[in-house]
Amino acid sequence: MLRAGILGATGAVGQKFVELLDGHPWFETTALVASGRSTGRQYREAVNWIGATEIPASVASMDVLPLGDDLPCDFVFSGLHASIADQAEPMLARAGYPVISNAKSFRMHSNVPLLIPEVNPDHTSLIKVQDWQSQGYIVTNPNCSTVGLTCALKPLHDTFGVNAVQVTTMQALSGAGYPGVPSLDALANIVPFIGGEEDKLVHEPNKLLGTLVETELLPASITISAQCNRVPVLEGHMECVSVKLESDASKDEVHDAFESSVSPIADLHLPSEPKKFLHVFEDERFPQPRQHSNLGAGMTVSIGRIRSCEVLDYKFVVLSHNTVRGAAGGAILNAELLMKQGLLGTRNT
Ligand code: NAP
Repeated sequence: MLRAGILGATGAVGQKFVELLDGHPWFETTALVASGRSTGRQYREAVNWIGATEIPASVASMDVLPLGDDLPCDFVFSGLHASIADQAEPMLARAGYPVISNAKSFRMHSNVPLLIPEVNPDHTSLIKVQDWQSQGYIVTNPNCSTVGLTCALKPLHDTFGVNAVQVTTMQALSGAGYPGVPSLDALANIVPFIGGEEDKLVHEPNKLLGTLVETELLPASITISAQCNRVPVLEGHMECVSVKLESDASKDEVHDAFESSVSPIADLHLPSEPKKFLHVFEDERFPQPRQHSNLGAGMTVSIGRIRSCEVLDYKFVVLSHNTVRGAAGGAILNAELLMKQGLLGTRNT
C-alpha cells in the first residue's frame, strides 16, 4: 500500500478524496492537511462533512495537520485553492513528494502533465523534464468542465480532426466548493458567469489533445468558444457542444466514433477506471444529471442527442460528474496510472 496525503482534506474535493480512498486497494490515507482553522483537531471535529455516507472510521479520529514539507505519506493529492497551491505544491515537489493536483496553478506549465488517463496517458513523460532537485513532481488534472468536453472530443479528433467547438455549460453548484454559491443566487436561478472558467475551457483541451514530440508538447489548434453558467443542480456538469470537423463525416460515423472509442489504458485494469469510458444514450431525453452523473461510479462520461448542427457540423450534449471524474476520482485515476507506469512508489526519506 502507498501512503497518500490529502491537502485541503476538509474541503468539497478533499472530502471526495477521503470518501473514494476508503477501501482503495493500492492507497491508504495517512495524512490530512487543512488550514489553521482545522489543524490540531480531529478530522471528524474539523470537517463539515457533506458526504452521503459516514466519515470513514479509518480517518475520523486522525489529527488534521498543517501544510509543511514533512508529511507522513509517500505522495499527496491536492485539493487546495490555487492561491495556496501556488506555493505549497512546489514546496512539496522540492521535498520529494509527487503532487497530484486539482488546482489550476500548474496545469498550463509546459513541463507539467495535464492528464486524463483515457486521453493522453503518454504525457506523463513530461515529468522527466521537471527539475525539483528531488524525486518529487507535479501532475495535474483538468478543470471539471474541461474533462467531459475533452473526453468527448478525443474520438472525434482522432477520427476526423476537430476544427472548432462552441460549448455552453450548465455547471453544478458543488463545483463551487462548500458553502459555494449563496442560496439566494442559486435557488430557482442561473448565474451566467463563473470566474476564469471559460478561459480554461478554451485552452486546456488543446493541451490535453496535443502531441508529444520527445519531451515537447505541441498543443492541438482547435478554436473553442465557451460560455459557462452555474445552474441549480447538485452534481454533474452538462455541456451543449457543437463541433466543426476537419473531414466529412456522416451522423452515423460520428455516433460510431463515440460508441467504438476504446480507452488506451483498458489493458492496465486500473481500480478507478470505469468499464465504459464513454456512454452514448439513444433516448433523446438523456443524459440527465440527477439520473446519470453517477454512471460508472461517477467516472463514465455520458453523451446524448447527437445530431446535425445548422451552424457547425454536429451537436450533442455531454455530462460528467464534477467532483468525481472532474476532481478527486480523476486525480486518483491519475495516481493509479502513475503507479502502473512505475512513476509512483514508496518515498525515500
Ligand atoms: P473548498 O471546499 O473551499 O476547500 C478548500 C480546502 O483548502 C479546505 O480543506 C481548506 O481547509 C483548505 N485550505 C484553505 N487554506 C489553506 C491553507 N492555508 N493551508 C492548508 N489548507 C488550506 O474548495 P474545493 O471546492 O474543494 O476546491 C479545491 C480545489 O479543487 C480548488 O483549486 C478548485 O478549483 C479545485 N476543483 C474543484 C472542483 C469542484 O467540483 N469543487 C472540481 C475541480 C477542481 P479549512 O477547511 O481548514 O479552511
